[in-house]
Amino acid sequence: LKVRSMLDISFPPKEEDTSNGVAPKLGVEASIEHELKYRVSANNTDARPVKLYQSVAWSVHDRLVDAFDQTQAYWKEKDPKHIYYLSAEFLMGRTLTNAVNNLDLGGEYAEALKKYGADLETVATGELDAALGNGGLGRLAACFLDSMASLDLPGWGYGIRYRYGMFKQGVKDGLQVELPDYWLDNGNPWEIRRPETQFKVGFYGSLEDGKWVPGEEVIAEAYDVPIPGYKTKTCGNLRLWDALAPEEFDLEAFNAGDYSKAVEQKRRADGITAVLYPNDATEEGKELRLKQQFFFVSASLQDTIARYLEQHKDLAGLPDKACFQMNDTHPTIAVAELMRLLIDEHGLSYDDAWAITTKCVAYTNHTVMPEALEKWPVRVLAKLLPRHMQLIEQINSNWLDSITGHVTAKVEAELAASDAEKQKKADAAAEERKAALVAAEAKGEEALAAAKKMVSEEEAAEEKPADKATLVEEKLKTYSIIQENQWTKGEMLVNMAYLAVVGSFAVNGVAAIHSEIIKTDIFPHFVEIFPERFQNKTNGVTLRRWLAYCNPELSALITEALGTDEWVRDATLLAKLKPFAEDAAFRARWREVKQQKKKALAERIREQTGYQVSTEPMYDIHVKRIHEYKRQYMNAISLIHRYKVLKEMTPEQRAKAVPRVVVFGGKAASAYYMAKKIVALILSIGETVNNDPEIGDLLKVVFLPNYNVSEAELIIPAAEISQHISTAGTEASGTSNMKFALNGALIIGTLDGANIEIGENTGFENLFIFGVKADEINKLREDRKNFSDYDPRYTAALQMVSSGVFGRPEYFEDLVASITDMNRGNDWFLLANDFASYMDAQDAIDELYRDQEEWTRRSIIYTASNGFFSSDRTIDQYAREIWNVWRLEGSDYQRH
Ligand code: PLP
Repeated sequence: LKVRSMLDISFPPKEEDTSNGVAPKLGVEASIEHELKYRVSANNTDARPVKLYQSVAWSVHDRLVDAFDQTQAYWKEKDPKHIYYLSAEFLMGRTLTNAVNNLDLGGEYAEALKKYGADLETVATGELDAALGNGGLGRLAACFLDSMASLDLPGWGYGIRYRYGMFKQGVKDGLQVELPDYWLDNGNPWEIRRPETQFKVGFYGSLEDGKWVPGEEVIAEAYDVPIPGYKTKTCGNLRLWDALAPEEFDLEAFNAGDYSKAVEQKRRADGITAVLYPNDATEEGKELRLKQQFFFVSASLQDTIARYLEQHKDLAGLPDKACFQMNDTHPTIAVAELMRLLIDEHGLSYDDAWAITTKCVAYTNHTVMPEALEKWPVRVLAKLLPRHMQLIEQINSNWLDSITGHVTAKVEAELAASDAEKQKKADAAAEERKAALVAAEAKGEEALAAAKKMVSEEEAAEEKPADKATLVEEKLKTYSIIQENQWTKGEMLVNMAYLAVVGSFAVNGVAAIHSEIIKTDIFPHFVEIFPERFQNKTNGVTLRRWLAYCNPELSALITEALGTDEWVRDATLLAKLKPFAEDAAFRARWREVKQQKKKALAERIREQTGYQVSTEPMYDIHVKRIHEYKRQYMNAISLIHRYKVLKEMTPEQRAKAVPRVVVFGGKAASAYYMAKKIVALILSIGETVNNDPEIGDLLKVVFLPNYNVSEAELIIPAAEISQHISTAGTEASGTSNMKFALNGALIIGTLDGANIEIGENTGFENLFIFGVKADEINKLREDRKNFSDYDPRYTAALQMVSSGVFGRPEYFEDLVASITDMNRGNDWFLLANDFASYMDAQDAIDELYRDQEEWTRRSIIYTASNGFFSSDRTIDQYAREIWNVWRLEGSDYQRH
């Protein structure tokens, strides 16, 4: 494979490469100064925030590289089984604060920065978020990397180095606008380009003598992002792939005067790693998306196999050294690609390759939404990856063969049961016909002829005994990985979730309720065949980023109370905070911290939106991707009602009302029409309410643009109540609910996803739970009511939208119709059904907030009760119950 010239690297070569072990390592202060002068080319007086950030980051980078090299060399020597986390998304956010603190260098950097009159917190804001993910799924992958390293587990992430991550969300004229996210613009000190690690990835082409001859090739080039564990020597890796053209420049075409053809290959390669697809409109059947998936999966598998073969001869041992965890269906083509590599590139038989593949691959399901369960048209797959399509057909045919016995037995049992029933019915019908003929005969010739005709028609229409073979064939189709499109008859689709289940040795959901729903609603027939394959692994979040570092004030208080900061590593210790909930002095200090965090958020709101909000009201937060199922719309309707009630109050009544600042944040996928209208509605409500002098501080409705990890780190610690109000059965888990709970925000939510387990841990009496349950949804959807039957508060609020109280009534017309018109959406997410109980829960929140002592008591109980949701616990479960990977015991590789 072509190795690129070492001169061709993206950043200036380092003057002094501390990673080669030859150059002396500079102290923190000297290294910042060095980077400032030589790499960033700024002198001390010109140390503007971004430049200072860059030099601090490069200085930390060198320390990370040391830890990284040592860990990787150690793992290579010990050769433990590795976990490879395959994910199309890693929502990393900023790195500086996390790296400095995980390396336990917070004190040293703070000291060194005094020279520049700066603190680490401010310097950290010079970094642009690495937003290589949509939301929860991508952030989960990032938390998992932190936990794997912190638990000293040999683990790598594998993904794509998108040049423009998620779009940057702006607000213009009351609407969301999407701007490019140039996150790499200031350079990226956290990645190490590896021009020596490149793999060819092919697309298109044909099969010649059974061998795939790709019609297009690109080069995948590795970038490593070191992942430091918390106060351990372990430094894991996130390897992201960039796409390069095999020949960037076609000199022949250039000489022939065709400049655009000369760079064509490069343009095509660039397209593969340019943008991250939004995940939450209807899943787009774009060929480019499949190309991205195959691109990173193929490079990752080739890389793993190459490294395995450096140390081992026989690929039969691969399952003892590698486990590929597929984060949702996006990397599922790995099942076919691993088969292809083993068979076509390494000469294994199909059966041997299948035995290895199904011991190496595991699958995490993240969604029950039909539109997000990926299905690729056979036509697209066969064109882009002809060999893989052939392998999938073979996998499917073997799979169906293997279960034909089971399905036949099932059909026979069903037939036996229904045959007896049918025989009874047929006998009764025959008796009736006989009687009818006798009666007709008595009435004469004509009546008899008519009766005979009727009888023969009835006999013809009578249900024939079912043909077993047809029934077996029909039933087998429901197990088939390749299925007919239910909307476009005749089009065949590859169901990637089915391929994932058949190709994996473990399948898991991400919260207890979700893991049950996937068994009963999505894969029930697969559960019959291999019940032991299905597991639950309730999600978690890293307490480093989501409590210790984003809320240092609360963390200091927790550490003081517990007499140790060990809780950052062992979250079960948080339970020891419980008695402090009863201590009035402690509660006062807890409130003080919340007040401080509210102040920081108020400042951010002013910067970003211009609205001045008081820090006295309750801070009520609803941040997450904008989606109909997450029901920001229902919250918006409730706020219209709140506004109406406040307007109708007398001044005396208003004086007793509980004031709120309601903060929304979240991106709507650019093609998601309704979600964008929901953003617009929230902005319009804010515009009206926030400028109404009668309302003042009683209610502020804020939409904070560009919700991302860094905004979340600011918003979550400031929350007093947080909203997780998806229609029951739709949110697989949620992870921000865990982050809010750990930061002492109370939860209003439905019995959905991880809310349920948070309720079990915290005590349901401490949550504001409302709404219908998941098992009632199907029936309720069938019996949806007429608009005239709705809660009058709900109808009145919607009428305010339609009559233009918030402006642009025609723009909001179809948003209103989506929940009121039987033919235009028909309230699929059941806002109307839940509205009244949602309002009751809101009233209970207001009531409790009047009692600040009780509110604070509960807030402390939330933090104390939810250590379970540490991703260290989740990863420990994956390691033991799925991956079978272990921390290296008895080694010299210990924590600091
Ligand atoms: N987006 C960002 C930036 C996040 O930090 C998170 C989780 O904290 C999410 C999305 C997922 O949020 P939720 O679990 O509420 O869907």
